[in-house]
Amino acid sequence: MNLHMVDLVGQYKTIKPEIDEAIHRVLDSGHFILGKDVKDFEAEVASYLGVAHTVGCASGTDALQIAMMALGIGAGDEVITTPFTFVATAETIALLGAKPVYVDIDPKTFNIDHSQIVKAITKKTRAIIPVHLYGQSCDMDPIMEISRKHNLPVIEDNAQAIGAEYNGRKLGGIGMLGCISYFPSKNLGAYGDAGMVVTNDSALAEKVRMIIVHGSKVKYKHEILGVNSRLDTLQAAILRIKLKYLDRWIHARKEAAARYNKLFAGTNVITPFEASYGRHVFHQYTIRLKNRNAVEKHLAEKKVPHAVYYPIPLHLQQAFRTSEAVEGSFPLAEQAAQEVLSLPMHTELTEEQQSYIAACVLEATRR
Ligand SMILES: *Cc1c(COP(=O)(O)O)cnc(C)c1O
Repeated sequence: MNLHMVDLVGQYKTIKPEIDEAIHRVLDSGHFILGKDVKDFEAEVASYLGVAHTVGCASGTDALQIAMMALGIGAGDEVITTPFTFVATAETIALLGAKPVYVDIDPKTFNIDHSQIVKAITKKTRAIIPVHLYGQSCDMDPIMEISRKHNLPVIEDNAQAIGAEYNGRKLGGIGMLGCISYFPSKNLGAYGDAGMVVTNDSALAEKVRMIIVHGSKVKYKHEILGVNSRLDTLQAAILRIKLKYLDRWIHARKEAAARYNKLFAGTNVITPFEASYGRHVFHQYTIRLKNRNAVEKHLAEKKVPHAVYYPIPLHLQQAFRTSEAVEGSFPLAEQAAQEVLSLPMHTELTEEQQSYIAACVLEATRR
């Protein structure tokens, strides 16, 4: 069976004429940086998410860095986040000279445990970055309450959860700023790197718009320090088409997740917990297993693609390791890193493929 973790080619084939037309339209225009497609795409995402301002940039990683730059976060500051996330979340904090301060996760959702945030706040804390991991919202009400009470802006890392909801509200516009990744394998993926910062704050939006073009409003006049991080016209043209399909694709992912749930029902495989406050968009379908490493080995033999997001929590990564962060500092994140396993999840997944994948997983767990 020809299985993929993510089937980008299969998905492309379903929309090929539209995509090819858009690519050629941009090539014929000779305009490749920003421009009308980027403006239109920004407006379309703003309307989809229900946020006032959206600014395209070069990647989700850049979106995080730019959002923090817009808030003036830098040397000596602390930013609270989760250790159980993709490296970009903390890497950008550290690159700005600030310190990532971790809070352990809720083992059910894998997202930051809001009940432990307050005790991580110090005089140096400047922001909180909750990450909506695997496509499921963090519990945002208590996080926003902490944000208001302690006057700390929230930056949502919404790289994995575009279209997901919290109590009926789309993620991204709940915090002060939201960061989206359009990396090809994300739920709304470009054909290259792309990202976006979203906000309802017009002053912050204006600052973000300056930062992405070297800190300038007027060409060659630089008011603040910025970066070069623009959304390519080509990627925007592609994303405009794909955005029209996003809800259909989310539906396909949710159906695939429901099929997996059924296949694993009554077994010792722990299937994803779906919090009642959210609309999970299943960027990943991630199960928990006590004998994860043995199951991985069996799946490799059976040629079933699988992945561990993420095998090493960030506090234990060599790049960040500090003397305070030792093994055991964030036990729930560390345990999750040992037990999680993500199975193939994409819009083209068939029932037959899933039956085979589940059978292979169950075979391995029974050994
Ligand atoms: C993918 C991802 C990012 C970074 O996005 P890129 O577009 O790859 O730079 C940041 N945070 C999380 C949680 C991600 O999954």
